[in-house]
Amino acid sequence: MLEDNYKQRGLRNKLVKKLREKGIKDEAVLAAIGKVPRHVFFDEALLNHAYEDKAFPIGEGQTISQPFTVAFQTEKLEIKSGDKVLEIGTGSGYQACILLELGATLYTIEYNRKLYETVRTFLPQMGYKPFFLHGDGSKGIPAKAPFDKIIVTAGAPVVPAALTDQLAEGGILVIPVGDREKQLMLRIRKKNGKLVREEFDYFAFVPLLGEQGWKG
Ligand code: SAM
Repeated sequence: MLEDNYKQRGLRNKLVKKLREKGIKDEAVLAAIGKVPRHVFFDEALLNHAYEDKAFPIGEGQTISQPFTVAFQTEKLEIKSGDKVLEIGTGSGYQACILLELGATLYTIEYNRKLYETVRTFLPQMGYKPFFLHGDGSKGIPAKAPFDKIIVTAGAPVVPAALTDQLAEGGILVIPVGDREKQLMLRIRKKNGKLVREEFDYFAFVPLLGEQGWKG
C-alpha cells in the first residue's frame, strides 16, 4: 500500500503539530516526519492508527516506534547532511527513512532475519536506500567504524563499550538504557576522546538482544 493521498498527508500534518506541541523543535526533523508516509508500514487492520502518536506491532514480537520517540531520538542526534550514521534495530524501517530524509549516509542493522529480509526489499521500493545489515548490532559494525552518529532503537541493559569505541571524535550516541520495562534516554558525546553523558526522559522499548544486550 504505497499510495499516499491528501487524507494521509493531512493526518501527517496533524501529527507534526502534535509533536511540536509535545516539545520537538527541530524543524528539519518535523519536516521529515511530515514527509515520510507511516501508513505504508501498517497492516490493513491497523491502517487507521498509522498517524496516532503510538508504537504498534510489526510482527515477530517487534514494534514500529512511537513518532514522538522517533522525533526525540532523531533531534538528539543533531544530524547534519552527510553524517555517517549507524542505526541499531532497523525494525519496520520507518526511523531509517527519517534519517535518510535528513541526509544521513545510513548503515542499519537488524537482528531478526525475517524483519531484515522484509525491510531490505520494501525500503528501496519507497526510494530509501541505506546499507542493510543482518546481525547483532550490540557489537556495532567494527568494519565500517567510525560513525558520526549512532542511534539504538531497542532498550539496552548497559551502554555497550563497542558502540562508544566506534564513535568518531565529536560523535553522538543516543541510546535508551535501563531494565526490561523502562529505560532512560542517554546522549553520549565523544569530546577530545572523553565521553560526556546527558540524561533525558524514560521510554519503553523492546529489549536490545545480543552479546552486549539482554540474553534471550
Ligand atoms: N527503528 C525501528 C522502526 O523505525 O521501526 C524500531 C525498532 S524496534 C522498537 C527494535 C528493533 O531492534 C527490533 O526490530 C529488534 O529485532 C531489533 N534488535 C534487538 N536487538 C538487536 C540487536 N542486538 N541488533 C540489531 N537489532 C536488534
